[in-house]
Order: sequence, then structure tokens, then C-alpha cells
Amino acid sequence: MTVDNYAAADIATDDLDFGPATGLVCRECGANYGLGAAYACMECFGPLEVKYNYGEVTRESIEAGPNSLWRYSQLLPVSAGAVDEPNLAPGCTRLVHAHNLAQELGMTSLWVKDDSGNPTHSFKDRVVAVAQSAARRLGLTTLSCASTGNLAHAVAAAAARAGQRSVVLIPSNLEDGKTVTTATYDGKLLAIEGNYDDVNRLCSELIGDPLTNDWGFVNVNLRPYYAEGSKTVGYEIAEQLGWRLPKQVVVPIASGALLVKVDKAFRELIELGLVEDTEYTIFGAQAAGCSPVYQAFQDGQDVVRPVRPDTIAKSLAIGNPADGPYALDVIRRTHGAIGSVTDEELVDGIRKLARTEGVFAETAGGVVMASLEQLLAQGLLDPTAETVILNTGDGLKTLDAVIEFVGPTATIEPQVSEVREALA
Ligand SMILES: *Cc1c(COP(=O)(O)O)cnc(C)c1O
Ligand SMILES: [Zn+2]
Repeated sequence: MTVDNYAAADIATDDLDFGPATGLVCRECGANYGLGAAYACMECFGPLEVKYNYGEVTRESIEAGPNSLWRYSQLLPVSAGAVDEPNLAPGCTRLVHAHNLAQELGMTSLWVKDDSGNPTHSFKDRVVAVAQSAARRLGLTTLSCASTGNLAHAVAAAAARAGQRSVVLIPSNLEDGKTVTTATYDGKLLAIEGNYDDVNRLCSELIGDPLTNDWGFVNVNLRPYYAEGSKTVGYEIAEQLGWRLPKQVVVPIASGALLVKVDKAFRELIELGLVEDTEYTIFGAQAAGCSPVYQAFQDGQDVVRPVRPDTIAKSLAIGNPADGPYALDVIRRTHGAIGSVTDEELVDGIRKLARTEGVFAETAGGVVMASLEQLLAQGLLDPTAETVILNTGDGLKTLDAVIEFVGPTATIEPQVSEVREALA
């Protein structure tokens, strides 16, 4: 059992370091930079990534760590142990062995990595925790982001817990499960009349403005650190399987960062000798109403052409995905494929996962579930190979998706005869 009792005021900001991280490096041209609030290469505008010099990492050293993503601090840009970090300590979510669903789909071994169990009920708590640590080290006192909803919730909560100011920007058309939750933490919440891509562009423009000198936009100027938090999903899956890799993983794609980092996590574990070097395949999942990466994959293109999103899977509604090309690389290198499912199919996916395994998925989880079925039907995913699918958010955040399809079996008077009749 863990007790979370840090006091924000007690935490000194000296002695903070970036642990094994040694700098930032351009993913395109390899140019090197120091550890700062930077995200684009000055030579070629390519995205920057954290570079490391890992020390000795063993299964035992990880297992001895806390019951949160900080057990992997030796593989993240944070001080050893990261025990003093003022944050929500997310991670270590359950890996559900989905026997019933596997049977229904004719699969041999299927697992659901259920990230709805994080503090604000989506995987975004992971990326925020790492970005928040970077913000402290860089003296950025206001925590900010451009969000499709779950990130907004995670940033507002993490900032509240750390006694920090937050300024969160979202498209104005999000679900109540995203906006009401976020607003309750009482940071600044700006609803922008536009879609996510408009909000993201606005944030990029704000970064040059003196107004935001001390702002850490977790997914913009802190993006290299933020994205590293996604690796912990991959680490956990391997550790929970008893330190081995699954054969197949199905990952939802919004910006594409999560998918890219699950692959990075698997490769790191192999390189560090923490798991056996076994082959694996990474599959992507998108909603048909916003499937630019799927489209590029189908067309055999390396460039991802932006689209205008139109889907109820709002957490995945990024029309111009920053990591799209890298997600394509991973999927092609590991011989994967991408599912693209309609809103109707994703709702069926949510209901099927609930009915078979008692897991109530967010719309993104519905996209993954429906993509699994599609990929199986197309013969692209092997039903006999061990598979992990990701549920990245809690269905309570997207009740609208199912509200018109489900309800009481019957509404009756409090009488035994009526119960009998209703169940007949
Ligand atoms: C943000 C998000 C994703 C995908 O994230 P990317 O790293 O941008 O691809 C998946 N599921 C949910 C519920 C999310 O909020
Ligand atoms: Zn470059």
C-alpha cells in the first residue's frame, strides 16, 4: 500500500537533475542540444528527443522501486528514484487477462492494459508527470498544454497537486467528462473556438510571446520530456508479463507519440538485456473520422496529409499528427498495420469490452477494440499470437458515446411480479 504525503512547500528545487538524460537530439539530422525547453531543431526543424547515457539497470533495481511509473526513473529524464517529485505518481495500472474476450474472438492469449486506472483516468497522467518534472528543472512555473481533453484533465490536476498555476487550452466542443473535470481543479481553462489543430497552432504562437516566458507547455516546448512518459506503458507491459515482450500490441494513435514510445520502450528493454530479444508487431488504431496515419499507410506514403477531424473519438482527433511519420516507420518496421473504424464500430467496441471483461473504455479504447476485430477479420493480426490491447482512458469520461444505446432493462414498480416479468 502506498501513502502519498509529500508537502509541496517542503520540496527544494536544488539538487534536481535530469538523471541519465544527457541532452536533446534531433530525430532527423542528429544535431545535439542541451537539456532545455526546446522541441524543434534549429538546423532542420525536426523534432527533438531526449538522449541518455543509461547506467546499470536491472530487473531487481526496477522492482525495488515505488509502485508508480517512477520505478523506471533510471530510464527517464528525472533524478534517481524521483521520490521527491510533486505529482500524482501515476502508472502501475492493471494488465487484465482477457479470457472471455479472447474466447469470443477465437484468440489464444489476449490482455488489456487498462490505463483508465491512472489518477485522472487516462494514460496522460504519465506524460504529464515527466513533463512536470522537466518544468521544475527548467524553472517553468506555469503548467500549460494544448489538449484534446484528457491532457487538460491531467495537467490541471497535476498542477493543483504541486501548488502550481495551470493554463489549459482546449477546443470548445469537448465532452463534459473532460471539461467539467478539468475546470473543477480551478486552474485557468481556455476553451478555443476551433479544433485541436487550431489550439495547437495557437500554443506554438504563444511560445514566442513574453506572456508565456515561464510557461511549460507539456506537449509543445516540453514535448521531448512529455513523450518519454509514454515509454512507461511499454515497460509495464513487459514487467507485468514476467519480463518478456508480447507478440502483438494494438495502440491508439492521436499524435502518434504513444505508439512510437511503446516501440522505443521494447527496444530499450532488449538492449539493456531486461527482456529476451523476441520479435513483436505494433498495430495502430484510428477512428475513420480522423485517420490520417491510416490513410498514409494504405497509400504507401511517408508523408501524413492533414485531415479535418469528424469523430466522437475526440481524444484521438488530431488531424495533423506530429509523430505520424514516426508511427508509420514503427508499424512498417515491425510488420504491423492500422485499423480504421467508424463511430458505430467503436461504440460496439466499448460495449463488447464492457460485456466480456468488465472494462469500461473511453472512446479511444473503443477504437482499439474495434480495430482489433477489424485486423483479425482482415487476417493482419495473428489470433494465435499473444496480444496486448491498450485502453487509454475511462469510459466515464465519454458517457455520451454510449448514452443513447444503453439504459435500464426495464423501469418497474417495486414488486416481485414485475421483476419476474421484466426478466422473462
Ligand atoms: C492522448 C491520447 C491517446 C494518444 O496519444 P498520442 O500519444 O498523442 O498518440 C490515446 N488515448 C487517449 C485516451 C488519449 O487521451
Ligand atoms: Zn535537425
